[in-house]
Amino acid sequence: MQITKFLTYLLISSFILIGCSNDDDNTPNNQSQIANRQQLGSDNSANDLLSATNFTSLAIEIVSVQGFAPSATAVNGFRDFLQERLFKPDGITITQRSVPSSGKAPFTITEIAEIENDTRTLFNEESEITVYIYFADGSREDDTTEQVTLGSAYFNTSIVIYEETLRRLSSRPRAPLLSSIETATLNHEFGHLIGLVNLGTELQSQHEDEDDEGEPNNHCNVSNCLMEAAIQFGSGMMGMGDVIPELDPQCIADLQANGGR
Ligand SMILES: [Zn+2]
Ligand SMILES: [Zn+2]
Repeated sequence: MQITKFLTYLLISSFILIGCSNDDDNTPNNQSQIANRQQLGSDNSANDLLSATNFTSLAIEIVSVQGFAPSATAVNGFRDFLQERLFKPDGITITQRSVPSSGKAPFTITEIAEIENDTRTLFNEESEITVYIYFADGSREDDTTEQVTLGSAYFNTSIVIYEETLRRLSSRPRAPLLSSIETATLNHEFGHLIGLVNLGTELQSQHEDEDDEGEPNNHCNVSNCLMEAAIQFGSGMMGMGDVIPELDPQCIADLQANGGR
């Protein structure tokens, strides 16, 4: 990983609520595992998830630490989002199971990737593509009192949701329902896996947001879009009520041009 890119990801992860980052420290040990452990935004990954060209079905493996599983409402909302945007004629399945705590919280992405190594069981096979989502019993290590990360997409088919952080957020006064925060975070992180914004899915119009230094940051500059970067405690997630943010027309146009619905 190039250092500038690494710094960009660090910046994204530390300054926005829903972060994104990637990491490739772990060595996969077979072809299929290699295919599932590419850098975020690499090669054909977004198209593989969006279209039926190479994969006609999608299997999502949700692995949660005991007591930290997402609500059924959130999983249903996430499934609806996937069905709305992806072409998977042979279906989208979501399996869930729980595992004991790793005892490693708070987490670095390297630690999350190690946990994935130990707990992921589904890898791409024939016409089925797979995605791993880990619901962690702790926060991200670089969270501060002002800014926390709710989730990260860290490989081309891997997501972590910091469920303990979501629960703390939802217990604040006037916070959205936990299930709404979970759905928004799942949908946002999956948005990165399908190449948003300019992360493996080509821009059809200029709507990529920039950070304070003017660098593009793989988020959308349309306010209230699901892929907006500035979803933060005060202004974004806390202010969204129980309406789940949706993709704006420009993000949808990008997906459709890359094989999505
Ligand atoms: Zn993001
Ligand atoms: Zn957008």
